[in-house]
Amino acid sequence: MRKMIVAGNWKMNKNLQEGIQLVKDILEVSADLKADKQVVICPPFIHLASASELVVAKDNLYTGAQNCHMEASGAYTGETSAEMVKSTGATHVIIGHSERREYFNESNEMLAAKTNAALSNGLNVIFCCGEPLEIRDAGTQNNYVEEQIKAGLFHLNLEQLNNIVIAYEPIWAIGTGRTASSEQAQDMHAHIRSLIKNHYGDDAAENITILYGGSCKPSNADELFSCPDVDGGLIGGASLNAADFHGIIAAMLAQ
Ligand code: PEP
Repeated sequence: MRKMIVAGNWKMNKNLQEGIQLVKDILEVSADLKADKQVVICPPFIHLASASELVVAKDNLYTGAQNCHMEASGAYTGETSAEMVKSTGATHVIIGHSERREYFNESNEMLAAKTNAALSNGLNVIFCCGEPLEIRDAGTQNNYVEEQIKAGLFHLNLEQLNNIVIAYEPIWAIGTGRTASSEQAQDMHAHIRSLIKNHYGDDAAENITILYGGSCKPSNADELFSCPDVDGGLIGGASLNAADFHGIIAAMLAQ
């Protein structure tokens, strides 16, 4: 069964008290979710345990980390393992966000290893891909994203793929206020689904959730989410405000 998901990526925002308040505000406004229409809140690591405790009683509302380390434990000062993430009650982890790829030099190999670590600890992975503006301008975005998907995911078996959500996030649309048109999003999502189909078969392609990310907000969520291959969104800025996040959740529930 293909799920729709709205996931909020808080990035490096909100101190502990502000974060707890935001989760409470989201809980207050969040309408009835369903097994096939879910929400994932991805705050910084420091919030994960308290946020997970707050959402534990709410069906189909989950928490996730924004990153994890690929090693199980050891002398990696400042890092957090997948097992540590799992121990907070979180169920998801974002891997391969463009900000991690760019500012923290995360290579395709590292992202494949992080994906393995997350899956082997029972976490669901929200795997990000997406092209920079120069690639979009050159018209080679399909090949670019194909390479990211192949390198990050195609070593997985079919069973492991069940715990993967793909997030297509064109870098030129992240935090810029510039959104991909629904045609651009649909075209890329259909391309990604066809890659999954060629490698894993029809059922896997039909069932995998592919999110759009990049300046998604209440005013454009409905149009984006109504595209046949767009199964929800990974939301940055608009996930920091409960009313906006609720508007995006409502757009998912209306599909
Ligand atoms: C993101 O960083 O995952 C994102 C989609 O950000 P924004 O919604 O702010 O563009």
